[in-house]
Amino acid sequence: MNILGLGHSENEANLTPASDGPDLVYHKCMAIARNMWWSWHPEVVHLFRDIDPVRWRELDHNPIALLREFTPETLAYRAGERVLHSRINYAYRRLGEYLNSPNTWAHTHAGVLGSKPVAYFSAEFGLHESLPIYSGGLGVLSGDHIKSASGLGIPLVGIGLFYNHGYFKQRLSADGFQSEEYIEHNIENLPLTPARTASGSPFIVTLDTRSGELHAKVWKLAVGRVTLFLLDSNFEGNRPEDRELTSRLYGGDERTRIRQELLIGVGGIRTLQAMGITPGAYHLNEGHSAFATLEAMRFKMVEDGLSIEDAQREIANATLFTTHTPVPAGHDRFNPDLIEEHLGPLRDGLGISHEHLMSLGRVNTADQREPFCMTVLGLKLSRRANAVSQLHGHVSRRMWRPLWPNREETAIPIGHITNGVHVQSWLAEQMLQLYDRHFPAHWTTHMGEPGVWQSIHQVDPGELWETHNALKNMLLAFVRRRLARQMGQRHETQENIDLAMRIGNPSALTIGFARRFATYKRANLIFSDIDRIAAIVNDTARPVQILFAGKAHPKDEPGKRFIQEIANFRGDSRFAGKVIFIEDYDINVCRHMIQGVDVWLNNPRRPLEASGTSGQKVILNGGLNLSILDGWWAEAYDGSNGFAIGKGTSHADDRITDSRDASNLYEALEKQVIPMFFDRDQDGLPAAWIQHMRNSISTLAWRFSSHRMVMDYARMGYVPASGGLSSSMP
Ligand SMILES: *Cc1c(COP(=O)(O)O)cnc(C)c1O
Repeated sequence: MNILGLGHSENEANLTPASDGPDLVYHKCMAIARNMWWSWHPEVVHLFRDIDPVRWRELDHNPIALLREFTPETLAYRAGERVLHSRINYAYRRLGEYLNSPNTWAHTHAGVLGSKPVAYFSAEFGLHESLPIYSGGLGVLSGDHIKSASGLGIPLVGIGLFYNHGYFKQRLSADGFQSEEYIEHNIENLPLTPARTASGSPFIVTLDTRSGELHAKVWKLAVGRVTLFLLDSNFEGNRPEDRELTSRLYGGDERTRIRQELLIGVGGIRTLQAMGITPGAYHLNEGHSAFATLEAMRFKMVEDGLSIEDAQREIANATLFTTHTPVPAGHDRFNPDLIEEHLGPLRDGLGISHEHLMSLGRVNTADQREPFCMTVLGLKLSRRANAVSQLHGHVSRRMWRPLWPNREETAIPIGHITNGVHVQSWLAEQMLQLYDRHFPAHWTTHMGEPGVWQSIHQVDPGELWETHNALKNMLLAFVRRRLARQMGQRHETQENIDLAMRIGNPSALTIGFARRFATYKRANLIFSDIDRIAAIVNDTARPVQILFAGKAHPKDEPGKRFIQEIANFRGDSRFAGKVIFIEDYDINVCRHMIQGVDVWLNNPRRPLEASGTSGQKVILNGGLNLSILDGWWAEAYDGSNGFAIGKGTSHADDRITDSRDASNLYEALEKQVIPMFFDRDQDGLPAAWIQHMRNSISTLAWRFSSHRMVMDYARMGYVPASGGLSSSMP
């Protein structure tokens, strides 16, 4: 009976009434809510929403929190009232079919992976706004990766940390300054169950350090066919300070970080062992988890009696390492004392000296002052390493060339696999329906292939434009709601709040900019020449409005000043109502923005944006990119599928780069973007613009999908690492 009996939801077994009584209705809804699969199926999302639309919104779109407000009887009553029974049954049946379907891409293309899964390590996973264990792009990428692995049927388990305060909620004060608020999750409202050992008891990881033991409990989360294990140090046996260790993402000092990284890497390998999982390949998504290689080596030595050299070779053969940033602060470095305190016992197990261990994390192994770098460890202990865009590949090879002093730069063994996004998670339902009407049947199973997307050229321009405008109006309605709430929280006058409800011009060219407020992303570049941008947004014949969102890292003062500068434009009559800052950027805010904007602006200081992914989400929904030729856009732009800022050059002097990029940005807006958007034919349609939309969708949607990305990882990484035939990385 229980087709979802994968052990993910032990609290719901043995419910087998003959017909759909209240208990069974409740059981089915809970079973759906306890697999994140629901979150990328709009009809299932809407099913939960329709149970109680107001509470749905108030509860951050969390179906478990919503269901827990009902008893089986009140839920069954509500389902009857709102005619939800057949929708519940349909969703439940589809989930069961999805979990049990044997016909997957991996079944035919990655059979060698067989029963030995890929172990995918990442410090954050951005799956949905109701599960805030992510801070930004890296997390969302990991989330999209495991969703696509599930969709493609690639046997994969994820390893991460459970942050019970997550990342912070952002509020701006009256003067526009960011404050951070951490909210403790109620685990009962999350789809987590304790990971159990074969004997049925909850599994606890125990790690030895020179300063005592460190423990973690482990949660299990179902993401479609993929299981994600999340380590959580909030365990009674830990010292009080260690119970806090995993409470926040990227909080605390270096010692907190190395202890978190010990948990994810070494604790992660121990967890796999305890769960009886023998990985065929290890994928380290960024350096945070690179200690995993050392523990995997130690295990090989114990288990197979290998020498350290042989163990190292075998583990490196099975390991893929992905580096994500050329920004130096993005690479963790630890001093020798911290390494000895935390890796000392593991080093004893490997039978190596302190200097030997340190050398694995040093570029110059003879330099005793060089700290231990996690990226260096990742590069040294993996046979396959990659950057996340073509340009980032070049930058990374140059950056890490000192590790291979005898090689030419082009022969540095770091390839690239460009990032992509999970189409079903970011595609608006209205666009999904449009594609369903015009694309080949079962197109979603082939969305990583170019052919299916060509059908967009057959879609009537008016239909595409109308769909886009409906989405734009939904975005503006969302913006008004959020503005009213933000102003209410700041106790602004009712008059102001009423004003907010009239903000947003549906016929204005709407530009979106949302991402972390790291200074290299230059959120304020468009304000370099205030008079020029004021003239642009105040042109009554061709109005423009700009929506901003994003958080600055709590310790990033310059980033916070960028936010303040932009937020305070609300008090400037030239920009009030036309430059809008939406607080508390998260997956939900991102989804609304990328589904409704006309143009997505991206102007990092080249080449610091390794890839970027938010602009890829825009493509699917018919928005156009206006971007510096950096990251993924450098290989995506072809002159007819969006807009470029500048020509892909940068100056050694940042000030010169910045002023050059700013004038190129204004130029692109004034000469290309705005004229094309407002050039309407006799039907009121911007024909050239719509052609760009179709080109953008047909040339880019498949390439920058996470299905294509994960297929690349499988072919060039997972399969050869597991002992299958290789196709090499570009
Ligand atoms: C997609 C996404 C990002 C990544 O944005 P970049 O383009 O890489 O800057 C960051 N945060 C959230 C919430 C996202 O959904």
